[in-house]
Amino acid sequence: MGRFSKTVIALLLLVGIAYYWLLVNAGPRGVPARPFDIAALRAAANAERGAKPTGITLATRRIPSASLAAGTGLRHVTSGVIAWRIETPGGGILLDPGLSPTDAEAMGFTRYNKAGMAVVDGWMDRAELILFSHAHVDHVGRFLDHPRFDDIAGKALITPGMLGGINALWRENGSHIAKTRDLGPIEAVAPGVVVIQTPGHTPASQMIYVQLASGREYIFTGDTASLAPNFERATPRSRLVSDILVPEDRPAVIGWLKGLKALKERNNALVLLPSHDADWVQENAATFGIVPEPGSGAKLPQH
Ligand SMILES: [Zn+2]
Repeated sequence: MGRFSKTVIALLLLVGIAYYWLLVNAGPRGVPARPFDIAALRAAANAERGAKPTGITLATRRIPSASLAAGTGLRHVTSGVIAWRIETPGGGILLDPGLSPTDAEAMGFTRYNKAGMAVVDGWMDRAELILFSHAHVDHVGRFLDHPRFDDIAGKALITPGMLGGINALWRENGSHIAKTRDLGPIEAVAPGVVVIQTPGHTPASQMIYVQLASGREYIFTGDTASLAPNFERATPRSRLVSDILVPEDRPAVIGWLKGLKALKERNNALVLLPSHDADWVQENAATFGIVPEPGSGAKLPQH
């Protein structure tokens, strides 16, 4: 074999290894599952009162599935930023109000739903409580940029660890946040709504368990599971994303994903809602009792 052929083979091998390591490998193996105690969640939820969740997709982009779910291939899926509202008698509870057009564009989202943004702003005006899965800009940005921020800030439940993440975003409004609240490992924050501490994607990441008046149960998984295959296969983000681009505690995330997978196997009616799986949420909205989002994504403004 000539030197050229050897070089080509060595290069191909390197590319193959890099591809496997960065986009396929779902390790480390042997991480124990982190258990979810559904009985404790139900007990903490104690009274139910919410109506169907409504989701609005604020921004979308097409990305290879493997980037957010290692080993699921290069098929493109729609990654969406979805803001959720649970209807309650007190004005509703918001989960992850999403991000503003400028941040959407900076993050590579190619479509932004401006009409949806106005609806989500109004949701925040009327809400009795605003919750976040974690303090990344695609989950807290629109809250921080709300045009009437000082009127809504007091309704947000922010843990001390999450405030650290918000301060790292360097928003003027972040310094207006006057109070934080420490939460236990699982803690009811409203009737039917329980926050679960799930550090891993960020040190202060949490999931939100919701039990509706109908008895239907949801867990909003935040970015621990951005796509459905994350919990269906207990596979984390690709190492390209989780080790390099958006570093996270990968073994902790794998532990939570194994826990979610086991929980779903034991409780099939429980709906796990991944944070960014716009296609999957759209396809399953009717089955999962989710109100279809009003309007569709509009193009980002041209410059
Ligand atoms: Zn996110």
